[in-house]
Amino acid sequence: MQLTLPTTAFECQNLIGGTWQTGIDLERRDLHSPYTGQRIGSVPMSNAAEIDRVVKAAAAAAITWRTTPAKERAQLLFKFRELLLANADELGQSAALESGKTVAEGKAGVLKGVEVLEYALSLQNLDDGAQLEVSRGVTCEVKREPLGVVAGIAPFNFPAMVPMWMIPIALAVGNAFILKPSEKVPITACKLGQLILDAGLPPGVFSIIHGGRDTVDALVDHPSVAALGFVGSSAAARSVYSRAALAGKRALCLGGAKNHLIVVPDADPTLTIQGVVDSFTGCAGQRCMAASLLVAVGEVDGLIDAIVERARGIVLGRDMGAIIDKASLDRLHRAIERGVADGAKLRLDGRQAKAPEQYGGGTWLGPTILDHAAPEWACAKDELFGPVITIVRVKTLEEALSLEAANPYGNATSIFTTRGGVARMVADRATSGMIGINIGVPVPREPFSFGGTKTSRFGAGDLTGAGGVEHWTQLKKITAKWAQHSDATWMS
Ligand code: NAD
Repeated sequence: MQLTLPTTAFECQNLIGGTWQTGIDLERRDLHSPYTGQRIGSVPMSNAAEIDRVVKAAAAAAITWRTTPAKERAQLLFKFRELLLANADELGQSAALESGKTVAEGKAGVLKGVEVLEYALSLQNLDDGAQLEVSRGVTCEVKREPLGVVAGIAPFNFPAMVPMWMIPIALAVGNAFILKPSEKVPITACKLGQLILDAGLPPGVFSIIHGGRDTVDALVDHPSVAALGFVGSSAAARSVYSRAALAGKRALCLGGAKNHLIVVPDADPTLTIQGVVDSFTGCAGQRCMAASLLVAVGEVDGLIDAIVERARGIVLGRDMGAIIDKASLDRLHRAIERGVADGAKLRLDGRQAKAPEQYGGGTWLGPTILDHAAPEWACAKDELFGPVITIVRVKTLEEALSLEAANPYGNATSIFTTRGGVARMVADRATSGMIGINIGVPVPREPFSFGGTKTSRFGAGDLTGAGGVEHWTQLKKITAKWAQHSDATWMS
C-alpha cells in the first residue's frame, strides 16, 4: 500500500456542538508530513474560552444522551462502525501521512479501533447492575451510570487507534466525549469526527478540541469535565494525573515505556528473530509496545547475528515509516551518539540507511542496534521512541528479571523460549502490565484490556475492555424498602 501525497492542505477546525468552527483569535500551527516535510495543513491551539464553549455544548448534549437507552445509542455506533470500515483505507492514508507510519500500519490502527468499538457495541446486551434482597423486605441495587462530560487526550503515534481506545466505550455507556488529539496529528481525528457526525450522533455528544499542553491543562481544570483519559509520555501523564487528582477528578493516564525482550539460548529462532525485529522496527519504534531493550541471557550470539541481518534488510518507505519530526530525529541521533560514546558496539547504524527517493525532505532513520551496553547507560534505561534497540548481556534469567524489575517503566515484557517453565516464571515474576511469550508486541486483543504498571500508568485500572467500562462509569447504589398498604386493593 503506497502513500498518496495530498494536493490540498487540511485546515483543522474544532468540533463544537456538532459544527466545525474555530475561535478567530486562536494561534494556528502548520502541519508537515514526516514523509516529505511538505505542509499538509494547520491546527488551532485552543484557549480556555474555546474550551469553555466546547464543554458547555457537550454538557448540554450529555443530558439527553445519558437517558437515551443503551440499545438506541448502540444503533448509532453501529452506523459509525460501518462508516469506519468503508473509510478504513482513507483513514489509514491519513494516519500515515501525518504520523509517518506506513499505510498498512495506519490502516491496522483503524481496524484495532474497530475492535474496541465492537466491544463497546456488545455492552448493550450486558446486564448493567445487580439486585439482592439484603434483609427482609429490603433490596440493594447497583446501577452503572455515565459520568457526564469526559475527555480523552491522545499522543501522536496512533492518530486513529488511541482515540478509538477511549471514544467507543465512553460514548456507548452514555457520556459526552471531548477528544484532544495530538497537535502533531490532528487530521485523522477530524476525519473520525466527521464519520461520527455522519453516523447521526446528536450534536455535542462527540467533540474535538485542538491544542497542546495549555489546552490540556484548561480541559483538566474545567469544572464540568468529570473524568479524563490520557495517553502519552510519562512526564505528561504524571502531570495530567496530578492536576486532575488535585481537582478531585478521576483520571487514568498511560505513559511511556522501555519494553524488555528477554531472549534465552533455547528460543525458537524463527519466532525470536521475526518477533524482535518486527517489535523494534514496527511503526519505526514509535509505539509504547516497541521492543527497546533486548536482554540476552547466556550464549545467544547466533540469534543476535540473525536479528542484525534481518533488520539490515529493512527498506525505508516500504517496510518502515518515518520519524515524526526533526526534533525527534535529532534526539534519536544524539541518543545513538551517546550510546556509542558510553561504549556500546554499534551493530547496525540507522543513520546510514538510505532515505526513500520518492520521499525526499522527510525525517528518516533506519533500524539501529547498540550491543554490549551496560544496564546503567541511557540507551539501556531511557525510552528512546525510535527504531533503536539496545542489547544488554546477562548470564542468568535471574539477572534478566532483576533488570526488568529495576526499570521504572512497566508497559510490556516478553520472553522468547521454547520451555514452558521458563515462560511461566517470567510471566509470574515480570513487573510489567502486559507480558508476551514468543510475542514481541503483546497487545491484548478485546475483550482483554490494555494498560501497564509503574510509571507507564498513573491511576487505577486499564483503558480498554472491562477497564474502560469501569473508568467511564460510576456505580449508584439504591437501597429500598416498600410498605405493604392494606388499602392497595386496586391491584387484585
Ligand atoms: P506527549 O506526552 O508529548 O503528548 C501526548 C499528549 O499530551 C498530546 O496530546 C500533547 O498535546 C499533550 N501534552 C504534551 N505535554 C503535556 C503536558 N506537559 N501536560 C499536559 N499535556 C501534555 O507524547 P507524544 O510524544 O505525543 O507520544 C509519545 C509518547 O506516548 C511516548 O512516551 C509513548 O510511549 C507514549 N505512548 C504511550 C502509550 C500507552 O498506552 N502507554 C500509547 C501510545 C504512546
